[in-house]
Amino acid sequence: MSATLSLPHQGVQLVEQPADQHRPWCVVHSGSECQSEETTIPGSSLSVWLAATGAERPRLVIDQPGDYIELVVRD
Ligand SMILES: [Zn+2]
Repeated sequence: MSATLSLPHQGVQLVEQPADQHRPWCVVHSGSECQSEETTIPGSSLSVWLAATGAERPRLVIDQPGDYIELVVRD
């Protein structure tokens, strides 16, 4: 007697956010990335904004001439 174990045929499901799901602070959307309004710190050459792709944690981007830094933050 032989038993055949049949597994339900399931494809790998990737969890993706709908394209129309935006962060509350999203003002610029490019591709799947939400970006907040860019703010320049008065008196400095620094610009900062938030960016997040899909369901990932947002990053605070600090842009300065010739360089930029990204910090992973909580929403
Ligand atoms: Zn967006």
